[in-house]
Amino acid sequence: MTKTKAAVVGITGGIGSGKTAATDRFASHGIDVIDADLMSREVVKPGKPALTAIAEKFGADQILLADGSLNRRALRDIIFTDNNKKLWLESLLHPLIRDEIIQRLRASKPPYCLLVSPLLLETDQHKLCERVLLIDAPESLQLSRTQQRDQTSETAVKAIMTNQLSREKRLAAADDIIINDSDLAALYAAVDLQHQKYLEQFS
Ligand code: ATP
Repeated sequence: MTKTKAAVVGITGGIGSGKTAATDRFASHGIDVIDADLMSREVVKPGKPALTAIAEKFGADQILLADGSLNRRALRDIIFTDNNKKLWLESLLHPLIRDEIIQRLRASKPPYCLLVSPLLLETDQHKLCERVLLIDAPESLQLSRTQQRDQTSETAVKAIMTNQLSREKRLAAADDIIINDSDLAALYAAVDLQHQKYLEQFS
């Protein structure tokens, strides 16, 4: 029998591990990709209730740009130094982002779709997934690839890595793992293989 609902595979991995490169390859096979980062921007667009709540809490003059959109950098700076404000913001936004994600997942084509989220394992978003796929790369490669991509310093990338979930925790949460320690052709071959497995598993 043909399934009508798409199974959900969540993608995780540290900075510069190759999540985007892997996701693009899955997408080239026609797999729908739901990007939680886009959803997190969607819920704070002008006119959305969350933006009104944020402006009331922190002051419109502090966190709105001249065109009425959210000044994300200003908001980041405010919550970076105040954990209570960070928690307030998360309790406002995470359920909204989750609802938005669920709507998109429901509209995705079977047999499976991908959920890409920087907070897949840090929030309960992973509970929306049948499988969690980890894109894993040695730290030295995460560093060099990110530095090259973003034209940034080793110190800046290391600071982000320190704040991210540890490799051990990601490995413990993963159902499937692709090791991205060679060239892009090897990554694509590994993705193609995994795609075939998911097709068999979810069809
Ligand atoms: P972030 O968490 O920062 O969004 P990411 O996990 O999405 O990162 P990518 O952007 O896919 O990582 O990869 C980081 C950089 O490394 C990109 O420039 C990408 O093209 C490159 N890259 C990824 N995998 C390989 C590989 N196997 N060989 C060479 N370059 C690679």
